[in-house]
Amino acid sequence: MFIRKRALERIAREKVLYERSPGGDVSVCVIYPNIYPLGMANLGFQAVFHIFESDPRVAADRAFLPDADERAQMRKTGERIVSFERARPLSDFDLIAFSISFETDYLNLPSIFELAGIPARSAERKGRGYPLIVAGGSAVFLNPEPIAEFIDLFLIGEGEEMAPEFIARFSEHRGDDDLLARLAEVEGAYVPEHYAPAYDERGRLRSFAYRGPTKPRVNRRLIDDLDQFKTASLILTEESVFGDMYLVEASRGCQWGCRFCAAGFMYRPIRYRSSENLIAEARHGLSERKVIGLVGAEMASVPGVAEIATDVAERGGRLSPSSLKADCISPKLAAALAETGARSVTIAPEAGSERMRKVINKNLTEEQILEAAAMMLGEGVANLKLYFMVGLPEERDHDVLAIAELTGKIIAGARERRQRVASVTVSLNPFVPKPWTPFQWDRMEDARSLKRKIAMLRSALSKLGPVELDAESPREAYFQTMVSRGDRRVSRILERLHAAGADDPGAIWHELQAIRRDIDSAAAVDLQDPDFFVTREYARDELLPWDFIDHHVEKWFLESERKKAHFEHQSPPCDVTRCTVCGAC
Ligand code: SF4
Repeated sequence: MFIRKRALERIAREKVLYERSPGGDVSVCVIYPNIYPLGMANLGFQAVFHIFESDPRVAADRAFLPDADERAQMRKTGERIVSFERARPLSDFDLIAFSISFETDYLNLPSIFELAGIPARSAERKGRGYPLIVAGGSAVFLNPEPIAEFIDLFLIGEGEEMAPEFIARFSEHRGDDDLLARLAEVEGAYVPEHYAPAYDERGRLRSFAYRGPTKPRVNRRLIDDLDQFKTASLILTEESVFGDMYLVEASRGCQWGCRFCAAGFMYRPIRYRSSENLIAEARHGLSERKVIGLVGAEMASVPGVAEIATDVAERGGRLSPSSLKADCISPKLAAALAETGARSVTIAPEAGSERMRKVINKNLTEEQILEAAAMMLGEGVANLKLYFMVGLPEERDHDVLAIAELTGKIIAGARERRQRVASVTVSLNPFVPKPWTPFQWDRMEDARSLKRKIAMLRSALSKLGPVELDAESPREAYFQTMVSRGDRRVSRILERLHAAGADDPGAIWHELQAIRRDIDSAAAVDLQDPDFFVTREYARDELLPWDFIDHHVEKWFLESERKKAHFEHQSPPCDVTRCTVCGAC
């Protein structure tokens, strides 16, 4: 029973920052579909677990994907996953609630079902006394379809108000024959079995017929006032990947509207926590940790962020913001970050050339990037991390080489000003088209072409001296695109990957290629070619797998932004005080 022993050791090392409730008679297991250190670093997971656990009707437990060695042991011994708090088999719960932030974790669902002894497909569980399987989290409110065959009901949107409504409805109707129909009445609930997809002769989604009790379009739920709900570390453990930090969510959404970024559209309109709330939360955190991790899409635009950094510095702590938009870093913020001992800073130009930054609507000039780097280096922050993407729509080779030119100018500028540069890391990610963005119709560039561009850039950067290129593999991005843009037919591919034991990037890539070969040789008739979801441009008039969700962002607006990208036209950042253009305000 070393699995239970490890769980008990982990629980013993945790510090719970709130009073735990004795629990009610609705048993819920909240599952993070990846390993414990990743789950415990996820604020979304901690917040959802706390929402369930603090509901007097609910007895809530946690569970995670077992570690690799545990999985191997369990497959040998037949041991089953049990929950953290009460060591209950997952099949004993009334409800299992997956909290899924990353679509790449969709891969782990078949493993969790297997190791829990629960059939993965809803259709195979129906009427057999298994728990109701629910899922929520930012990944599913972008596109839940790749796992729709595994999940009985999705909660689309932010859970603070929606989850208690769902629990109330579940407590009222559990055991009823029409339970799913009753639960579907919760605003934001999506029941896949109430929809029937049909495909045309080219394999494209032709229709998504609705046969449920409410309305076909699912309204994505958001909360208006973030200050009403705490989203900060609730259970601390050194074993979390951010173990040395107390995490505080500062905002949801982003005003800048970069055309590749899902967070900039799916959480519209932008909402910030008040600086009073953030300062109070950071001070509370400093009694537990020396580092305050400020979480959100873009932190330099958070109102009062410089004052928060200064307040943390004055109390001997360090503020660690997730990402900073170069032109929004004020001298005061730069100084405060340096004063708090920040040793590295992340700046996200995303594209090397001015032209490409206009295509992606980055609203950031080369001059502003050079100024921000000079300011941070001037404050003694000597380690620079620069985020760039490759394979973006409209990209040409000289745009990729412009990444090296820009990096070169940052280093040359530092030398001229005699500023110390300890390291420069170029973090390069292949473009992954995301639902609900202006680039949702665009295809991912094929892996061979991306590899050529990465090699070209690596050679150009090697001439600059101490620059490290940290490039994500196009193969990983290929899988991410498939689970990001795919429809229900992806569930069969996930099952095939699971059956083949493909759970690392290399194995996944090889199994996906094997699937493609099988399809070509008609050996696999029930599988869709992964390329269909990855390297195929979606037509503008095509029904998209996620179109049934209402994100309050008009489709014509996304299309007009796509057109502007082609003509290298930028759009102004959001002004929620007077703008209504995209439909979200
Ligand atoms: S309506 Fe305007 S301000 Fe509001 S989210 Fe849309 S673009 Fe931004």
